[in-house]
Amino acid sequence: MELEDINTVAVLGAGNMGHGIAEVAALAGYDVTMRDINDEFVQNGYDQIEWSLGKLAESDQITDEEADAALARVTPLVDLEEAVADADVVIEAVPEKMEIKQDVWEDVEASAPDHTIFTTNTSSLSITELAAFTDRPERFCGMHFFNPPVRMQLVEVIAGDDSDDEVLEVVADLAESMGKSPVHVHKDEPGFIVNRILVPLMNEAAWLVDDDVATIAEVDSTTKFDLGLPMGSFELADQVGIDVGYHVLEYMHEVLGDAYEPAPLLEAKVEAEEFGKKTGAGIYDYEDGPGAEIPTDEFSEVARDRLLAIMANETAKLIGGGVAEPEAIDEATKLGAGFPDGPVKMVDAHGLEDVLETLEEASEETGHERYAPADYLEERAEAGGFYDVDEDDEGVSFETIRVEYPGEMVGQIVLDRPHRMNTISTELLDELAEAIDLLEADDEVRAILLTGEGEKAFSAGADVQSMAAGGADPIAAVELSRKGQGTFGKLEACELPVVAGIDGYCLGGGMELATCADLRVAAERSEFGQPEFNLGLIPGWGGTQRLKHIVGEGRAREIIFTADRYEAESMEAYGFVNEVVDNADLEERAMELAAQLAGGPPIAHRFTKRAMLAGRNDTDAGLEIEATAFGQLMATDDLMEGITAFMGGEDPEFEGK
Ligand code: NAD
Repeated sequence: MELEDINTVAVLGAGNMGHGIAEVAALAGYDVTMRDINDEFVQNGYDQIEWSLGKLAESDQITDEEADAALARVTPLVDLEEAVADADVVIEAVPEKMEIKQDVWEDVEASAPDHTIFTTNTSSLSITELAAFTDRPERFCGMHFFNPPVRMQLVEVIAGDDSDDEVLEVVADLAESMGKSPVHVHKDEPGFIVNRILVPLMNEAAWLVDDDVATIAEVDSTTKFDLGLPMGSFELADQVGIDVGYHVLEYMHEVLGDAYEPAPLLEAKVEAEEFGKKTGAGIYDYEDGPGAEIPTDEFSEVARDRLLAIMANETAKLIGGGVAEPEAIDEATKLGAGFPDGPVKMVDAHGLEDVLETLEEASEETGHERYAPADYLEERAEAGGFYDVDEDDEGVSFETIRVEYPGEMVGQIVLDRPHRMNTISTELLDELAEAIDLLEADDEVRAILLTGEGEKAFSAGADVQSMAAGGADPIAAVELSRKGQGTFGKLEACELPVVAGIDGYCLGGGMELATCADLRVAAERSEFGQPEFNLGLIPGWGGTQRLKHIVGEGRAREIIFTADRYEAESMEAYGFVNEVVDNADLEERAMELAAQLAGGPPIAHRFTKRAMLAGRNDTDAGLEIEATAFGQLMATDDLMEGITAFMGGEDPEFEGK
């Protein structure tokens, strides 16, 4: 079967995940049957889809017509036979109980056509065991969405022992056609990728407290502000539900051995039914206390080393055991758990030799199985890291941005942190500066197009969290502000004309970056603003100075002082955005503008930018540059070319000479 052969998707279960998956499938154009055990449950799921589609339309992510059409593609059903009779793919999202899933799969097998592919959204049961309830284990695999499916981009596609490669490929294609990023998990081991990283990390956090190595505050402060993960370990456990994590942990303990023995602290919380936020108390107290208040500077070096060591060990087991490749682990954890950087990259950067040392010391001290280094970890420590270091590769490679060459003498910089709304980290600032140098030095490039990956954001601002990592150090913050001012200034002063193609959020630091482009074209749904005052801050990457040159000081004051959000159209009226286009046309129009500028006279571009910048606060200096440039241009080939083409009624071909 190929992707083109899939028309109808049956989703079993209309609960939290089921209704979300049905919505995503309907949005992608599939006919969807959604089944639950009674009218009330299935209607409830249907109502939630209607509500969610309405929200998407309200925020202009889809049109009203698209919302109506998607809803019309969903058929709510109670009759299982009817639900699967025409299905090309079944996605099962019924409760996480083996007995329930067994009944469901036996019934589905009896009613579904022979060609139908079966997938399960299970988080913690064995794909192979579930497949055995059907007569077609080769056409069965895991399709693990994240909550909520409408917003989360990751889908883990998990092979059972008998899954056909072809089936796994089609299911990955299906996920992709739903706008998701599929990641292949080659072996059916507990936790797949994301939970295999997160759950042992939660367990280690608890062991550190149980063993009196660190306090709860120290562990969470270290996880959040030193390692820079999106939440503290305990904060995350409370958020997800300690019972949920514990359940996966128990299964890991059973299948993978004593390295996964649950920490007493977690056991006690589960026993006391203190599961976290949903019960009002977990590790933190949400009802009578302040919840997860995490200090920004109570770092513990041992806690950090041990958390990293556990993460490295899990990573080694996944890669060495053939469950997933390093790239897949990093991608999945970034998309599914919001890690700013993948765990493999993180532990490679920390150094596997150091990780090994930590494991050996902790092993000796505690005698616990979880610190026993995986064989593959030892192997890769010798090789210098999980990722191969390619010594022949002298090309520049970036982590947080991409540099592309879409043709027509345009160099494109894509802010590539969609899992973090393309927010700007210090690493991104460094890479951006490097990319500008790279494009400026490239004779084949005559204009820069700057965009953000995905449809959500051009850039939602500074990555406040990764910046808070390291504590609230005023001196470091001054340097950080100067660094951003410098990098953005580099773009502003760069010799090439720059077009910013803005789709989605363009806020704070993201707006300050866009301010440094020469032209800004925005999709209708974009939102702008300098929200820094809301945080008690000020725009620190040039916003107090540069914005006024584009919109005038009166508007600049308004934008910064109100900290309001502005629609693209208002920003066009203010002169910030040169052109607003339909959402679907942004990419094409931005490229068209960049290509137009790239076709212009390079020397004239360069001098004009220089004269305008120099003349901002000193008109005489600007006029001086203008006059000198005017004189120098007289002697260029480009001028001759321009005049000849003009006389002949043709388009000039400038060469920058
Ligand atoms: P849920 O309890 O919200 O929904 C399950 C739904 O299945 C309920 O509406 C229930 O009435 C229905 N159901 C029960 N028996 C059924 C049957 N025989 N046929 C059809 N429907 C039936 O649970 P959920 O959170 O949506 O989880 C569903 C699955 O997704 C589980 O396997 C879970 O592990 C997995 N999962 C959950 C999450 C999450 O964050 N909630 C994330 C990823 C995967």
